Amino acid sequence: MKPIVYVDAAATTPLSEFAFNRALPFLREDFGNASSRHSHGVTARQTLEESRRTIGETLGARSEEIVFTSGASEANAWILNAIAAPIVAAPAINVKDVNVVSTAFEHSSIWETLRSLERRGVAVTYLRPNRDGVISTADVAAALRPNTRLVSIMTANNELGTLQPIAEIGRLLRERGVVFHTDATQAVGHIPLNVNELNIDFLTASAHKFNGPKGFGFLYRRHDVDLPAFILGGSQERGLRSGTENIFGAVATAAALTENVAALPETTARLCNLENALLRRLREVLSSSDFSVVGESAARLPGFLNLVFNGADGDTMTRLLDLRGVCASTGSACSSGDVKPSRTLLATGRSELEARSSVRVSFGRSAVPDDAVAVADARK
Ligand SMILES: *Cc1c(COP(=O)(O)O)cnc(C)c1O
Repeated sequence: MKPIVYVDAAATTPLSEFAFNRALPFLREDFGNASSRHSHGVTARQTLEESRRTIGETLGARSEEIVFTSGASEANAWILNAIAAPIVAAPAINVKDVNVVSTAFEHSSIWETLRSLERRGVAVTYLRPNRDGVISTADVAAALRPNTRLVSIMTANNELGTLQPIAEIGRLLRERGVVFHTDATQAVGHIPLNVNELNIDFLTASAHKFNGPKGFGFLYRRHDVDLPAFILGGSQERGLRSGTENIFGAVATAAALTENVAALPETTARLCNLENALLRRLREVLSSSDFSVVGESAARLPGFLNLVFNGADGDTMTRLLDLRGVCASTGSACSSGDVKPSRTLLATGRSELEARSSVRVSFGRSAVPDDAVAVADARK
């Protein structure tokens, strides 16, 4: 059988061998509950807090600013709901008088939560990216209102890989005193990030996007910003999110993240080469009018390409690629056989037809030069 070429790292990545080996004992011999007072519990507690500190350090955050969650979807929903429409509203807050500024191409976990907030009366402003898939800081400034309680703009788009000007946006929002959340799920472990330099108040991330385990993630909350509790009960996570802690998840996540961050310069250079090799090869086999790269001139995540093929159907193409041993994906959401055009591509001003014609190629850190050739040739 032909080896499978996996170029869908933006969807998920395999658990790092190093992280697995580090964390495995915490599923078995070191199985303690971090809330127990005996030695097993103490080991679990210390390990958990060490992981928290390690994860914080990679982002320039203090240990107590990191809160563990089941992933980015949970963390996104928590922050949006808690800040925009707290269940136990402060006396001064009327949900009907709250504005949230976000974008038209956020991940569905943000998008659907914003839609539900709208149904509860919150006014949401959706900024549109330019054709290159980038949000303008001037648009953010122009959208701010006296009742804007939160701005939520992703660090890197999950369909396009385009990087948003979050340093500029962070500076603006700090000046204006508006709370800034960024869904950095595609960026953490893939580009250098420092929450203080970027003036971020809330950041969300998911371990399985950087070779950590699935079902584990975290949020960063700036120490002087309030966050209402999400799950009450055992007072874990400083009373914010109760439930027995996932020590395996925390250890594996800390190990995977430090491993990725240490290798960043090397990985970045290698993935950029693969991306260029794929484009070169495609240009050899296709004419330049046959396809385009969305956000070609924008800053993007390394090894990340969204390709629009003229007159082709993205869903059919990814199925064909799969038959030829290449795992890529399309931005289009498929629900019960009905393929919708990508909301993200539509937001960049592309037509419905174009928004159905894209294939996302995202190289993972273990990709090799042959993978780039295999992807281009499978398209033939
Ligand atoms: C994958 C992803 C999520 C969801 O993360 P889960 O941990 O799988 O819930 C959220 N936002 C972005 C940008 C993502 O890429």
